[in-house]
Amino acid sequence: MSLEDKVIEASNGVKIPQLGLGVFKLTKKEQFETAIREAIRIGYRHFDTAKIYGNEKILGIEIQKSQIPREEFFITSKVWNTDHGYEAAKRAFEQTCKKLNVEYLDMYLIHFASPYYLETWQAMEELYMEGKIKVIGVANFEIQHLEDLMKHSKIPPMINQIETHPEFPQNDLHDYLIKHQILHEAWGPLGQGNKALLENPELKKIAHHHHKTVAQVILRWHLQRGIIIIPKSSNPKRIKENSQLFDFELTSEDMEKINQLNTGKRYSISPTGFIINPFLNKLMKIFIK
Ligand code: NDP
Repeated sequence: MSLEDKVIEASNGVKIPQLGLGVFKLTKKEQFETAIREAIRIGYRHFDTAKIYGNEKILGIEIQKSQIPREEFFITSKVWNTDHGYEAAKRAFEQTCKKLNVEYLDMYLIHFASPYYLETWQAMEELYMEGKIKVIGVANFEIQHLEDLMKHSKIPPMINQIETHPEFPQNDLHDYLIKHQILHEAWGPLGQGNKALLENPELKKIAHHHHKTVAQVILRWHLQRGIIIIPKSSNPKRIKENSQLFDFELTSEDMEKINQLNTGKRYSISPTGFIINPFLNKLMKIFIK
């Protein structure tokens, strides 16, 4: 069974590969090309980018170079904070498609619940109805944003991409998403490579028992929770390691031990802090090309 066969269905029946490659901070051309080529060679077909990552264009080039049909890929991008509003979001979508050199996106997400996300959503609903986006969703939305969005929209969000790892499992939000048939996708599934997490003695014990690495155990824990994962790596060896998750299973005791690592600690800034911090928004704007 190949990686493409490990799928989770969105509420509209679209199949999403449960493992993808995240490409945040992968901006050096040579490193990027090596990583994407290796990922495609191994069997990754799901790639997670965003306008703000500045690498949509080189991702599109690598996908085309592979000569694998477009339909076999699952490409996600995101609307950045400075592109909110009906008209701006439509323009941002066109720019993203142009950069990726694609006619449609498999998934398009609102990157943060910044002001005017309702107008942005309206544009996304239309693009979805026109068949230009297969799955529409959000990222970094908390329960109050989801409630608001569902109250004011025709189509509910199909997925929420949020920081999730053993120290920050998002239990409450996870239960809420399940209840509302919204898929949970983890960003930072490896705690952004945090050493304390990757060297955790309990995780090491579990990894040793299964003849796997700590990273593989963490990623497997996500999979068994029904979460979509997009670990990032620039290293071909680790890209392969992160894909070897389907030949072992964590026991319920393993799962429980990993659940116990919950400290409520985010490794990144809280999304609410990000939205309201004008300095950060300004800083990020500098990186948008
Ligand atoms: P991850 O949890 O995927 O961790 C990436 C880090 O872990 C890198 O430093 C990488 O180093 C290291 N790493 C990867 N694999 C291994 C391994 N097997 N063993 C040891 N270290 C490893 O964090 P990200 O923040 O990158 O999140 C993943 C993706 O989620 C992003 O790339 C992006 O697509 C998305 N994202 C979305 C956000 C949002 O706001 N919606 C925010 C942040 C990320 P190396 O490259 O050297 O292997």
